[in-house]
Amino acid sequence: MMEGSLLDIGKTWIFINESLADGLLSWNTSGKSNARILQPLWDLRLGREEFLRSPLFPVVLSVAFYFSLCTPFMIVDLIGNKWTWIQSFKLQTNKEVTVSQIFDTLGLTFWNHVVYILPAAVSQWVWTPDTHLPELAPSLFEFMWHQIASLLVFDFQYYVWHWTHHRVRFLYKHIHAVHHRYHSPFCWVTQYLHPWELITVGFLTTTNTWFFNCHPLTIWSYMLVSIVVSVEAHIGFDLPFCLHNWFPFGVIGGAPKHDMHHLKPTTNFQPFFNHWDKLFSSYCPAMKAGGIKPKQLLDYEHKNKETKKFI
Ligand SMILES: [Zn+2]
Ligand SMILES: [Zn+2]
Repeated sequence: MMEGSLLDIGKTWIFINESLADGLLSWNTSGKSNARILQPLWDLRLGREEFLRSPLFPVVLSVAFYFSLCTPFMIVDLIGNKWTWIQSFKLQTNKEVTVSQIFDTLGLTFWNHVVYILPAAVSQWVWTPDTHLPELAPSLFEFMWHQIASLLVFDFQYYVWHWTHHRVRFLYKHIHAVHHRYHSPFCWVTQYLHPWELITVGFLTTTNTWFFNCHPLTIWSYMLVSIVVSVEAHIGFDLPFCLHNWFPFGVIGGAPKHDMHHLKPTTNFQPFFNHWDKLFSSYCPAMKAGGIKPKQLLDYEHKNKETKKFI
């Protein structure tokens, strides 16, 4: 009896979500029962199908988006030194981004793209079948939950990868240490990676949408969201419009948390969220804008100093 009621509640909840999400606009689409709120967006594909179904499209989209997203932050790093209002959001206030650091990080990024990403993209173009583009857009409910689920799966996969590459000395020294060459991150540090890390991250990001058989629109959006979260984690600023400031209860780590990982590399392994770090005691409270240390961080540092005395 009880089990049946729970099942009914579950079905009703899904029905309400689907109806709210997709039924709201049904009046606008000739009353068809399959009306989708994302259909106008998905219909933008019409006339561009040949380009969009090519296996090269996701690569072009993510590479172009990454460079376009990082460029404004690079400009702020280079010419924003005198803008006191923007400097008030900086996390490590005593660190400056220099032109040679930009050349170094961009150099490795270009090298990785030419030597690894370009050949991978070309072989994908040759060997992978074209993407099937369905007529219908995904429902808003499916679009959201597939995207959140894919992000949670990637977040856990990378947490395990990251923890292992810090704990196993050989892996840290020969692979992940490249990314830790910078203790004060800035935008281009996001993909300042050893090729093995780049390939692993690329593979995990690409394949975990397969678990949910995601719609192409969901896959492309998930790729862009992943890039936004990864770049935000490395900008070195706690800006009010960043995602971690939108979501309650500190669900998303953002730049403040990842900056602490570059300062204290045995903490904060999780790339997007905070729950695994908190559960497995690898969480370190973050610094605030202007390099201010909140009470939680001071307590954390004091506790760790006391613990070290007795080891
Ligand atoms: Zn990093
Ligand atoms: Zn690390």
